[in-house]
Amino acid sequence: MKELVKNLGSFVTRPKKPSGYAAVLCYHDIVENQYLDYYTTSFQMFIQQILAIQQSSCIVKIDELFIHSYEKTKHKIVLTFDDGLISVAERVAPFLCAKNIPFTIFVQVGTLGYPGFLNPQHVIALSSYPNVEIGSHCLTHRRLSTLSEKEIWSELSRSKEILESITGTKVRYLAYPYGDFDNRVLEIVAGVGYEAAFGTLEARSLIPPKELYNINRLTITAFDTPFSVIKKVTGRYDWVSFFNNR
Ligand SMILES: [Zn+2]
Repeated sequence: MKELVKNLGSFVTRPKKPSGYAAVLCYHDIVENQYLDYYTTSFQMFIQQILAIQQSSCIVKIDELFIHSYEKTKHKIVLTFDDGLISVAERVAPFLCAKNIPFTIFVQVGTLGYPGFLNPQHVIALSSYPNVEIGSHCLTHRRLSTLSEKEIWSELSRSKEILESITGTKVRYLAYPYGDFDNRVLEIVAGVGYEAAFGTLEARSLIPPKELYNINRLTITAFDTPFSVIKKVTGRYDWVSFFNNR
């Protein structure tokens, strides 16, 4: 009888099954003309990729990754931009905001105002758009697993505090520089008050994500075309999920 009650209890409290996959895309610099830097995308190519994504997928805010949904008619896509580069203000935001497409910028706080990077005024202006989320990409873009606990705490909490004082809104999400973290980082990121954190494991994310502080992302590089991006978001290259769910 005890066993039955125990089993019944676990049935009642069992977390819901994931309702599907989302692809969280990680872009870096969106440049005027294509040049051979792995982490850049030309603006023309970026536009073509977004238009192709919109044909088959729904671009949503990060918050929707956590909403259980049985609507499987369209793939869910989240757009993120790492490092807080000035191209986000100059090219990405005017294009995406005009189309009401949501996106998130993970700002490297220590380089705010440096040549090629956003400055605090850009961040204030960007955060005023309802479809733009400002997240942290730490202070100095070092590998967190190589730092002392005190340094990790400073990277995660100071960057959050500075961005919150600039924008006047809560910074809820973090992207680990290089996708690098260890168990100490996982404890601190929760302690500092982030609601979720993003890594760089090249796979789609479950909805809701399996691990809140290690959400997968798909990096878009200079070699991606609209065709390859569609293949990525629909899971054609997602061998991680394929082997995990066999
Ligand atoms: Zn970065």
